[in-house]
Amino acid sequence: ELQVKDIIQWFELTNEKIQANKDYLTSLDQPIGDGDHGINMARGFKEVVNKISTQDYENVADVLKDVAMTLMSKVGGASGPIFGTAFLKLSIAVKGSDSLNFETFTKGLEEAVNGVKQRGKATEGEKTMIDVWSPVVDYLKSEKDFQGDQIRKTAKQAMENTKEIMATKGRASYFKEKSIGHIDPGAASSFYIFEALAEVIK
Ligand code: ADP
Ligand code: MG
Ligand code: MG
Repeated sequence: ELQVKDIIQWFELTNEKIQANKDYLTSLDQPIGDGDHGINMARGFKEVVNKISTQDYENVADVLKDVAMTLMSKVGGASGPIFGTAFLKLSIAVKGSDSLNFETFTKGLEEAVNGVKQRGKATEGEKTMIDVWSPVVDYLKSEKDFQGDQIRKTAKQAMENTKEIMATKGRASYFKEKSIGHIDPGAASSFYIFEALAEVIK
């Protein structure tokens, strides 16, 4: 079960990874984008941690809502609204729970992916962060309980698989065939999000 303190730790760890890999994330966005993904995510998650570490929360949904709102308001570009929507939908789906059990979390993450698909009019196989989130949801649906190492492994493989995809959504789609051979930046930051989750649940 994930408690409020675990959710906060999830985003603190995510922020550490994003800050440590800011330049790497930006370098992924150079050949197939505008070279700002690391900057965008680093700014957003720094603000997220500032916000949630100074508040008192009674339930996990409120933490997730603040995460979502902060990303939406502080991050320009595609990633702010997209990642913001993911955590907002997760928040709405788990409303009312003090803590998150495996089943609620899995259902909520599925809602998050559906929300992102709607928001960005994208689906699997278009070389976006969906190509990490959706396989993680599929993996969770095949399981009965949290297993951090498997979540990490699933997310890592999914991130690496985005290399072979030709982008048909977002800025990377302007590069058509030339987008093949590069990891999607949003898929890489999604990997850090799930690697951080894996460390929280262990
Ligand atoms: P921008 O492209 O506006 O500069 P970022 O570089 O911060 O924004 O984020 C780019 C990432 O956003 C991509 O790598 C991709 O994973 C994600 N993305 C872009 N468009 C979409 C979309 N329609 N649906 C889902 N994710 C998307
Ligand atoms: Mg960019
Ligand atoms: Mg940009």
